[in-house]
Amino acid sequence: MTVPLSQMWTVATYVLQQKLKGQARYPLVLMLEPLFRCNLACAGCGKIQYPAHILKRHLTVEQCLQAVEECGAPMVSIPGGEPLMYPEIGPLVKELVVRKKYIYLCTNAILLKEKLEEGMFAPSKYLSFSIHMDGPRQEHDESVCREGVYDEAVEGIKEALRRGFRVTTNTTLFEGASPLRMRQFFDEMMDLGVEGMMISPGYSYSKAPDQEHFLRRQRANELFSTMLARAKRRWRFNQSPLFLQFLMGKQDFECTPWGNPTYNLFGWQRPCYLLQEGYASTFQELMETTRWDQYGRKSGNPKCRDCMVHCGYEATAVDHTFSSWRGFRDSVVATVTGRL
Ligand code: SF4
Ligand code: SF4
Repeated sequence: MTVPLSQMWTVATYVLQQKLKGQARYPLVLMLEPLFRCNLACAGCGKIQYPAHILKRHLTVEQCLQAVEECGAPMVSIPGGEPLMYPEIGPLVKELVVRKKYIYLCTNAILLKEKLEEGMFAPSKYLSFSIHMDGPRQEHDESVCREGVYDEAVEGIKEALRRGFRVTTNTTLFEGASPLRMRQFFDEMMDLGVEGMMISPGYSYSKAPDQEHFLRRQRANELFSTMLARAKRRWRFNQSPLFLQFLMGKQDFECTPWGNPTYNLFGWQRPCYLLQEGYASTFQELMETTRWDQYGRKSGNPKCRDCMVHCGYEATAVDHTFSSWRGFRDSVVATVTGRL
């Protein structure tokens, strides 16, 4: 199973329409955070450090749908916190499917089997579970600071696949990751039958308890180059091949923070999913009043210097694919040959 053609077509036509309209800045994936609470406390997490009264709160389905409408992006990623702890997750997903949005529900999968058995979700080409898997068993359990979570996530993946759902994985890599072990992990995920994998270096959230293990840019390039050298044909990545080349240091991209705008309890977060430099009350206000020139590598902003996270650069890679023949050719060649 791979990304449905209808999804590729929807994204390609959407990007081309934006280009034809001369839209310099457009959203590609809405990052919708309905809540911040979680049933894990990972060392590299920058989302769960809010005070208890904030962690107790969540958005209403109406607020979520209003944000989806305002933004207009063809894809909606639902991270958190843990979205399966959001009491309205079933109705929200149903409404998004009705609106033909391609949904990536990002979950640590601890509750996945239980929710599937309750019949909370129905399989759809629009819905994909994106399972948090930070590497093989030992690495993953260390990363999420709890033993046994890898096995629970694998159970959740098997159950979702057995019931006909689309399942992908998302992996955040930190300093000390072993390229060899990660290559074995890619094989394991493919053996399980997941549709595709997403990989990204972690962002050094100032609030995260573990500050030592975030990857700096050059180290990230070295790690990803070794890990993805002679990538196996059977590995399927749910990402633009140009983004993977960027991680390997073969493409020099600038960040596109408006590509993955973030909406949560506080409103539209400036400028991106990772930084919190104020909030706008509408999507239009976010786009029109954010000082975009203060972000990205060229801005010299130290908070952006080492960032290579997919929420800033995947949209750049997709835009590059449709901006020049070279970008298009590079993308097609990498997709067809599997060579990065
Ligand atoms: S599972 Fe995700 S949201 Fe929960 S603590 Fe870990 S990184 Fe944070
Ligand atoms: S470089 Fe990273 S931290 Fe800076 S704006 Fe882009 S996504 Fe956000």
